[in-house]
Amino acid sequence: MIDARFWRAAFAAGLLVLTAAPGPAAAQAGAAQAGVAKPDPTPPVPTFTRSLASFAKSNPAPKCFDRRTEPYTGVSDAHFHPRPFGGQAIEPTTLFQYFDKAGVRFVTYMGIGQSLDMKSDCTYYLNCPGVKALPSIKNDFVNGQEMKVYPHDNVHITLSMTFVDLAHPEGAVETIKLYDREFPGMFAWMGEANVMKQALLGNGFEPPTFESIDRWAPFMKVLEQRGIPLTVHADLGNDAEPTKFVPLMQHVLKTYPNNKIVWAHMGLSKELTKMNPKLHVAIMRKALDTYPNLMLDISWDVIYNAYYQYGQDFIDLFNAYPTRILNGSDFVAAGDKPFEQYWKELEITSRVNRRLNDEAFRQIALGENYFRLLNLDYVAPPVCQAGR
Ligand SMILES: [Zn+2]
Repeated sequence: MIDARFWRAAFAAGLLVLTAAPGPAAAQAGAAQAGVAKPDPTPPVPTFTRSLASFAKSNPAPKCFDRRTEPYTGVSDAHFHPRPFGGQAIEPTTLFQYFDKAGVRFVTYMGIGQSLDMKSDCTYYLNCPGVKALPSIKNDFVNGQEMKVYPHDNVHITLSMTFVDLAHPEGAVETIKLYDREFPGMFAWMGEANVMKQALLGNGFEPPTFESIDRWAPFMKVLEQRGIPLTVHADLGNDAEPTKFVPLMQHVLKTYPNNKIVWAHMGLSKELTKMNPKLHVAIMRKALDTYPNLMLDISWDVIYNAYYQYGQDFIDLFNAYPTRILNGSDFVAAGDKPFEQYWKELEITSRVNRRLNDEAFRQIALGENYFRLLNLDYVAPPVCQAGR
């Protein structure tokens, strides 16, 4: 664990530059956020008429997207875990049906970031503190194999490498080479990897230090050369100390400004649900302004359910930075979860889309940011304008 001296040193070194002091307006915003109301029920599943092929750049006549009649849920899911921590996963062909039914045409298959000790029968890390949950190649290899074997004509899957241990990055380049041999050209993303995930501290998770972050350089070079994004889970802090871990992410961004980095959940978590949204948004704006290759992923229903229900501060942020935001569900495909659960999580993480302006809607909900990040041969349709 990082000790108190580390944090004092980080503060003394001025590394908390991202932290903004809440002003008088922030006090008002706090009231808006206090006591998050029960979310509205999940609406029924609409009919999705747009196929994967319709998004191809080669489509000669893309139909404009009518926001009044077509669904607002994201066509891309940039944060999806097809296998659980332990136990059985949903069958691949069943998962493809989920995507089809939910109108998701693009998805990033992430390993879970860590696998539970094979000697244990535990299937969810929070149920078994003390059982180690460590980064592993297991999930990734199964994902790679399944993607190859099972046909999926109506969904474009991007495979992500999740093996990297950010506190012990030695050997990461060699493991990437192993993936190159076993799955040539198939893995185009890395993550979700953990910079700080407080929920995992009871299961042997060790966060990187500044020094170990510096030692990511060899594998970060490979990612940069290949244009591979890295999604990191990096908690900002917790309710007692909302900006406690900001220096870690700050150090990552400062050290690797040329890498495409995706900050999962905008740094929020179950441990941080009472932070003032104005302060949160100020930290995000500062990071986006300083690091042009940074993107934010707005996945995880916790943000909506426990934090802020995508209030006006978020709408303003996303409209101001339309090209920097990725939709995602953070669904974990444990074997007992029905389609309705995926729909619920996708819908709730997409609710913000309804209130975005047309430009942000096209970039975020219609997948343009996802296509550009991965350099895909797909393009988002234009949004229909009134009278056209
Ligand atoms: Zn995740």
